[in-house]
Amino acid sequence: MAHVITSLCLRDGGCATVCPVECIVPGKPTDQYPGFYIDPETCIDCDACTPECPFGAIFIEDEVPSAYMAKGGEVLSMAEGTPGFTNEYNGKNHDGEPVQLKATKKLEAGEVVDLSPAIAVNAAFFKEGPGYETA
Ligand code: SF4
Ligand code: SF4
Repeated sequence: MAHVITSLCLRDGGCATVCPVECIVPGKPTDQYPGFYIDPETCIDCDACTPECPFGAIFIEDEVPSAYMAKGGEVLSMAEGTPGFTNEYNGKNHDGEPVQLKATKKLEAGEVVDLSPAIAVNAAFFKEGPGYETA
């Protein structure tokens, strides 16, 4: 088991500052991995990261919602080229630095989305993607 960051992540970075085992890392390259990712081999499920996220993006792996009902206004961020994700997001991270994401979509109130694909994306980042050691 591990915690998982879903596509509600907008690279705020606050979670990474509180993780006691430093297993939360920024995705690279950002066009393919736009969020932050949790190394499932290292996460100790302490839950310190969850309340740190301003966007509610972090879940225990087996509680990642497959039918997340939006309150309205949440922004989902995906790899560039994902169909339907055509909006650019410009915000600021935990340190006040600019964050720009190219493939996002704002959710309407009541819209239901499946956040569970993030589990496989996270695993791919560490197993098949650049991970954080070689990025
Ligand atoms: S605090 Fe939330 S938005 Fe920021 S990097 Fe972590 S999961 Fe992503
Ligand atoms: S649950 Fe704890 S160990 Fe796992 S990513 Fe969050 S802060 Fe780090």
